[in-house]
Amino acid sequence: MINKTPKKTLKNDGELELFFLGVGSAFAMKNYQTNFFIIKGDSHILVDFGSYAPIALKNNSEIKIEDIEFILPTHSHNDHIGGLENIALTNRYVAQKFMGKPKTKMIIDENYQRILWDYSLRGGLEWNEIDGMAHKLQFSDYFDVVRPTWKIFSPRETFMVDIGDIHIEMFRTNHIPEQSNKWEASFISYGLMIDNKVFVSGDTQFDEELIETYKDAEIMFHDVQFFPGAVHAPLEDLKTLPEEIKGKMHLIHYADSYDKQDIAGFAGWAQQGVSYIFN
Ligand SMILES: [Zn+2]
Repeated sequence: MINKTPKKTLKNDGELELFFLGVGSAFAMKNYQTNFFIIKGDSHILVDFGSYAPIALKNNSEIKIEDIEFILPTHSHNDHIGGLENIALTNRYVAQKFMGKPKTKMIIDENYQRILWDYSLRGGLEWNEIDGMAHKLQFSDYFDVVRPTWKIFSPRETFMVDIGDIHIEMFRTNHIPEQSNKWEASFISYGLMIDNKVFVSGDTQFDEELIETYKDAEIMFHDVQFFPGAVHAPLEDLKTLPEEIKGKMHLIHYADSYDKQDIAGFAGWAQQGVSYIFN
């Protein structure tokens, strides 16, 4: 079921809901970037918050940045983490200080936490408080860590986490660099399986093995690009998938020229500012 009413709160009646702040590619100007909320009952997880996300949040919902409690960054590209500094600063200096809100919780494995902080976040977050002695802030000053557990016997590296009644599997994808031909050779990037029924590819090159692993998902959201090679799944490659897979596959992370593409046989283009609800 699809609900186009602008999302007001991060709660619902208990059904699994995916609310897309945006569905576009990193450089899209029409559809913001592919960032979304998972909502179920009183629980929510924000998956990625890119450089356009603070504006998407304002224009596509009535949710306030101060209300975001759980975040899960999938990888370090700007369209996925470019807005995290906004959340961190707003949470520490507004939401916690004046609104009695808790510290933001980040779902992240140990290895990626170190990379995200050292190579992306600390430049803007480390030097914000000086108290006599130089006092550098750390990841833990901004975020409480929720550590996912390693899932053994998985075909590829996979972590699991439960937030309220939301069950997430985070699996590694083969996203960058272009030259990597398997997830083991690629930079850390995750896709998600939610409640064992909703598959979200995250950013990935075309990866038939991944789709085979999760082929029983009830619905799939898959990233796409409109040319061969590079670091996302080319539409021409996705077209080679079996009809029953394409029929439940909504396309995300798409460029502004999407309306010139033929996607007959697919479930369609995922839409921004819209909730997908699963009972
Ligand atoms: Zn990416």
